[in-house]
Amino acid sequence: MGKVGLGLAVGCAVASCAIAAVMVGRRVRSRRRWWGVVRVFDEFEEAASTPVGRLRQVVDAMAVEMHAGLASEGGSKLKMLLTFVDNLPDGSENGIYYALHVGGTNFRLLRIQLGGQRAILEYDVERELIPQHLMTSTSEELFDFIALSLKEFVERKGNNLQIPQVRGTNLGLTFSFPVKQMSVSSGTLIKWTKGFAIEDMIGKDIVECLQRALSRRGLDMTVTALVNDSVGTLALGHFYDKDTVAAVVIGTGTNACYLERADAVIKCQGLLTTSGGMVINMEWGNFWSSHLPRTSYDIDLDAESQNPNDQGFEKMISGMYLGDIVRRVILRMSLESDVFGPVSSKLLARFVLSTPSMAAMHEDYSPNLSEIHDVPLKVRKLVVKICDVVTRRAARLAAAGIVGILKKIGRDGTGGITSGRIKSGKSGKMRRTVVAMDGGLYMSYTMFREYLNEAVAEILGEEIAPYVILKVMEDGSGIGAAMLAASNSAQSVDTVQVL
Ligand code: ADP
Ligand code: MG
Repeated sequence: MGKVGLGLAVGCAVASCAIAAVMVGRRVRSRRRWWGVVRVFDEFEEAASTPVGRLRQVVDAMAVEMHAGLASEGGSKLKMLLTFVDNLPDGSENGIYYALHVGGTNFRLLRIQLGGQRAILEYDVERELIPQHLMTSTSEELFDFIALSLKEFVERKGNNLQIPQVRGTNLGLTFSFPVKQMSVSSGTLIKWTKGFAIEDMIGKDIVECLQRALSRRGLDMTVTALVNDSVGTLALGHFYDKDTVAAVVIGTGTNACYLERADAVIKCQGLLTTSGGMVINMEWGNFWSSHLPRTSYDIDLDAESQNPNDQGFEKMISGMYLGDIVRRVILRMSLESDVFGPVSSKLLARFVLSTPSMAAMHEDYSPNLSEIHDVPLKVRKLVVKICDVVTRRAARLAAAGIVGILKKIGRDGTGGITSGRIKSGKSGKMRRTVVAMDGGLYMSYTMFREYLNEAVAEILGEEIAPYVILKVMEDGSGIGAAMLAASNSAQSVDTVQVL
């Protein structure tokens, strides 16, 4: 928590400086100019609006794209990747397991001791920041850093066990980037997102890279589960509550996964699993629909990003981008008028306003909005309103995405889309449905979380909403991976066959 707190404070200082730099200086010179700023705001608010009717169109689009992505390879911007996870933890797992979580900004090391009967006897987690230079270096350098951190962690946390005693210990790896999975414990990187760009890694087996780095460091551990962050979250959710059918992670980036029937995965005919189901990694950050309320700021943000035309949904929703959308709107206003003082070159820099700093301004309940300095109160209020529009839109779109998943699996109370195979229709009894949630944005940005929860209930309506529960699974991404490492070492791995 110390690190997170410090990160936030530093972030706030940067934001305050950036905004202060822009805002210090001349005051509003004319009423006309102020109205120019208000017009920029009104246009933005209108373009970014998310009335429930529009959200329902997004729900439908999400369900349709899910179908298309399951029907054929490349059938949709949603990749709908097979995870080869067909059995989720049920609480009976036993033993000590480690997990690594390579996310976006953060890197986590975990150790859990499971005691059967849904019990986590011991749980240790440490977070580290991934050094910026490693995000664009080589795969060897990145994995060497990861392996060394793990070795030090094992030495610290091993209860005085000597390293040789972890021999053969199973390790779960959560890797929050799009991976083409070959089995539950192998997969190749499809592409980087969230600012990573290590060219030599594309197409390589991630587990092989890690396993090689582990042996270079003399660590005899076996990676028995390679999962995506949302799959880890789903695993932890299911460990605690068997009605958990989907998981959504909203942190630096965003992704979702859910439990699908194997026979619905049309692009993989003859997929046999012991459970009859399989977890599908949607890679929903890349979802796109013409119903999404896209503004000129989104278009510019995309065009100037490292991955233009890619991850369109993620760029409207996730923590990497929200602060930057706000920055763009303020910058536009400051070009329109001198109400913010002279345009600061600082505000021209991408990502100078981080999402945690934006959240601090948004959630500032002091009467003078003291989080923002050196501008008149009405300007501060306007900045808060910009934050509100950006966060509200993000949260409501994520909510529509969640209901889209529920619609695809017939859990939204409408009878699903017209596949003719949805079991529970209007006539059927509504089943309790749990969605596991994780990610720094959802966990730490209260306004975002409240808007999201509220919108899910609004879209579903008051009759259905009580059956749908969003459950926070903090650090689920990593703990779940450790649990999957457990369940995949206990059982023989050949339960999934592709004929
Ligand atoms: P990652 O997605 O990098 O693996 P997290 O799930 O912890 O890691 O998410 C971290 C992200 O969450 C940050 O990059 C930031 O965008 C967002 N975030 C964290 N704390 C806050 C906060 N207090 N307010 C708003 N956003 C936050
Ligand atoms: Mg994450």
